[in-house]
This record gives sequence, C-alpha cells and structure tokens, in this order.
Amino acid sequence: MVSRVVPVDPFDLVVFGATGDLARRKLIPALYRRMADGQMLDTARIICAARSDLDTDGFRKLASDALDTFVSKDEIEGDTRERFLSCLTYLQLDVTSEAGWDKLRGLLSDDGRPCAYYLSVAPRFFGVIAEAIRKVGLVDEQTRIVIEKPLGRDLESARELNRQFAEGFAESQVYRIDHYLGKETVQNLMALRFANALFEPLWNAQHIDHVQITAAESVGIEGRGPYYDNVGAMRDMVQNHLLQLLCLTAMEPPSHFEPDAVRDEKLKVLRALQPLNDPSDVVRGQYRGGTSTSAYHDDAENPESRTESFVALKATISNWRWAGVPFYLRTGKRLRNRVSEIAIQFKDIPHSIFSASAAAPKSNVLAIRLQPDEGITLSMTIKDPGPGGMRFKETELDMSFADSLALTGKRMPDAYERLIMDVIRGDQTLFMRGDEVEAAWSWVDPIIHGWQNSVPSLYDSGSSGPEDSLMLLHREGRRWREISA
Ligand code: NAD
Repeated sequence: MVSRVVPVDPFDLVVFGATGDLARRKLIPALYRRMADGQMLDTARIICAARSDLDTDGFRKLASDALDTFVSKDEIEGDTRERFLSCLTYLQLDVTSEAGWDKLRGLLSDDGRPCAYYLSVAPRFFGVIAEAIRKVGLVDEQTRIVIEKPLGRDLESARELNRQFAEGFAESQVYRIDHYLGKETVQNLMALRFANALFEPLWNAQHIDHVQITAAESVGIEGRGPYYDNVGAMRDMVQNHLLQLLCLTAMEPPSHFEPDAVRDEKLKVLRALQPLNDPSDVVRGQYRGGTSTSAYHDDAENPESRTESFVALKATISNWRWAGVPFYLRTGKRLRNRVSEIAIQFKDIPHSIFSASAAAPKSNVLAIRLQPDEGITLSMTIKDPGPGGMRFKETELDMSFADSLALTGKRMPDAYERLIMDVIRGDQTLFMRGDEVEAAWSWVDPIIHGWQNSVPSLYDSGSSGPEDSLMLLHREGRRWREISA
C-alpha cells in the first residue's frame, strides 16, 4: 500500500520552534521515518531553531528522547538513529531579535538546493519570521515557507496574514498545512472518487440522501484550556479540517491532479456554500462536569465562558450536483469516542419487491474513516443466510488499511511524513491556498457573529453531544451515526 520510495533531492529544512510540542511529537518522528524508509538521505540538513539555551549535542539528545517517546521501538533499528541525529544542527535564536539571523545564513547550503522554513511557533511569530528571512536575504525561488493552523481567527486576520506572506513570497512558495489532508484515507477519498468508475455516477443529489462529517474527540480541553477558550470548536475544527473534508467530498473532478486544479475545485465548493442564516441549523454545546470528570468551565479556567466545545451544523451547497443534499458537520470534545469519518448516506431503493416480512432493506452507507483506524466501509443489504424466508441483514465491505498494510508488513504513514516530503518536492496539492482559507472564514464568520448573545447547550461527558444536535437530524427524519470506536 505504501508506494515505492523515491528519495528526495538534498534539501535544507529550518524548523523554528524545534523544541516545541509539534516538533517533538510530529515533525522529528516524521523526518526520522522518512530517513528510515530511505526517502530522506544523509545529505539533508535540518536546522532546528528555538529560544532554549541548548547546543547541537543537547538538542540531539532532546530529539533522540522524542524518538523514544513517539516512535515505536521496532521502528528504531540499525544506525538510522545516529544517521538521523547527525543531520540535525541546533541554533539558539529569538525570532523577535535581530541577532542570530546571519548565523542561520551560515548554516544553510549555497548549492541551490530547496530550503523550507517550517514555522512551528505561535502564530504571532509567523509575520515576524517571514519578514526577517526576507530582510536578511534568505529567500529565493527555491524557498518554501510552511505554516499550520490557526491561520487567522477571522476573515480580516486571515487576509492580513496572507498579505504579510505575499510581501515576501509567491503563493506557490507558501505551504498551509491542514494535516487532515495528509491522511492516507483522505487521499484515498480522491482515489476512490476519481480512480474508480463505480462511485462517481452515483455521487450526486439523485442518489445521495445526505453526508455526515464527524470529528469527535473523547478528551476535553485540559492542558490547553485558556488557549482553547479563546478559540472554540468552530475556529479550531470546522473552519479548517471539517470544511476541507467537505470540499474533497463535494468538489467536481479536477481536470488534473495538480495543485491549482484541485484547489480551484475546492474553492468553488466553499463559494457555493449557502450562508447559514437559520439559527436552528447550527447547534453549539459545552461539556458539563460529572462525578469523575471536570466541567468545561473548570478546564477553561473561566466560569463565565460561552465558548463552544461542540458544534453541529447543517451546510448546503448551492450547485446542480448537491441541490437539496444536506452536509451535516459535527465536532466536539469529551464525546463518547475518538472518531473522525465522512459518511455518505445513499438514498433508499425506490421500490421494494420484497414482502413486509423481509423488512425494508437498509440504504447503503459509504464510510470513510480517518481515525482511529483508517479505512473505508460500504454497508450493504444481503440475504440473511439460511433456509428461512427472504430476510435481510446488513453487512459491511470492509477495506481497513491497517489490515492490508499488515499483510504487506508495512505501517500506516503519519500525515506529516507525506506533507513534509511534499514541501520538499514542491507539490502543493495537499495544502490550502490563501483564497481557500479566506473563503472558509467568509462562511464561518457570520455564524460566529450570530452567537454573540447565545449560550451553548450543555452535554454530558461521554455522550454524543447536546440534545439539540440530535434534533438537527431528527426533525428531518434522519439520525446521526453512532460515535463508536
Ligand atoms: P509550543 O509552545 O510547544 O512550542 C513553541 C516553540 O516556539 C518552542 O520551541 C519555543 O522555544 C519556540 N519559541 C517561542 N518563542 C520563541 C522566540 N521568540 N524565538 C524563537 N523560538 C521561540 O507550540 P506547539 O504546540 O509546538 O505549536 C507550534 C505551532 O504549531 C503553533 O502555531 C500551533 O498553533 C501549531 N500547531 C500545533 C499543533 C500541535 O499538535 N502541537 C497542532 C496543530 C498546529
């Protein structure tokens, strides 16, 4: 399942914020695994910059510890750890200071190789770093700059961020990560739709009743409470991840699988989203405390908080393909299980030829699961085996990637492995363009403004969210899928 490994050309990568959580948990393990698989060669140079008072040996120790913590033991073999660590150089640098940038220049290669700057720092430093590397002459056409959410907190701030980057970089040099797009299943959604003749003829309002997109977490906001309280589920999850999934599900086939062709189609979907004017089409919630669980208020350290830890909404897309097909989106903390999936609910058969005793056949559901175990299932109605009469049962065609990878002795690659290598290769297909980010905020902003005088509905930890969210579908004769692991 993991394709043939083609080594990337030599590159320089500068990770700002290299001692932080994202770098230790995701970036360092991803780079290590790319080296272990033979895709990143010893010629790569990774300059790890942060404020901490460390030298290269000290940082290599930190990186080695990160491998022990976040990479399984059986993946660490031979001399790969040493080879990987020897690619890392540490640079103590305060990005708000003028000092240190010349030293950075001295660490970079001058052989024309690509150089990517990964801004794994708080967003308030994005503009600062973009400006600094431009001013000290560290930008040429081989330069790439990588950022990740939050990309603004509303349309205005997202525009300002885009403007800051546009001062020093062409759009083709800016890589805006949405790590959901790096997941195997999400890429498989495109393969499923556009590399098979089976589904695309059915992929429209004539055959699809509705779509459910869920990103449920079982954990709360503990550990990042005050930060989260200033953001909320709509900004943290819906504006980026859920809308990106909606775009990939709903977009027209691009003419080519190329960055701008794909992103043009996603943008058309965002622009075709109907403004969500009816307050009853959106539900927001906040988890309450239980006998053994804390309340959102406590975790947020804000007893007055009206920030939502849960959102469910009904989105509609105004175009021929999707007229009348609701896209229900739902995300939340402290829900029953950790599950992310896209479920395509097909329409009922138009007429049953079977007697009432056979029970009505269930309509088909194609579920594309992003977590916990990535895979695709298609529910089908079949005859219940046996000599009895014609009775039906529901069964699933299960394409679990973990199972098929296990058969070939491979493991599921992490999204960051794919995305970092795409940055080095200069492929922006799985990254968001600036106008997409702005279009998503244009749709989300009025919803958030509409909440100014409302309070979120409370829900129990371990539940499926507030009652009103169930009603969002019940009132239309539909049901949410179970949030089951
Ligand atoms: P963090 O607070 O754990 O790490 C921040 C890093 O920035 C540290 O290495 C710190 O030394 C460095 N830093 C702080 N001030 C600096 C300065 N003045 N000069 C140089 N370095 C400085 O943050 P994080 O969780 O690693 O997140 C980094 C970025 O990635 C943020 O924008 C965050 O929103 C985004 N992000 C993180 C995650 C995640 O899972 N952690 C997920 C998605 C997006």
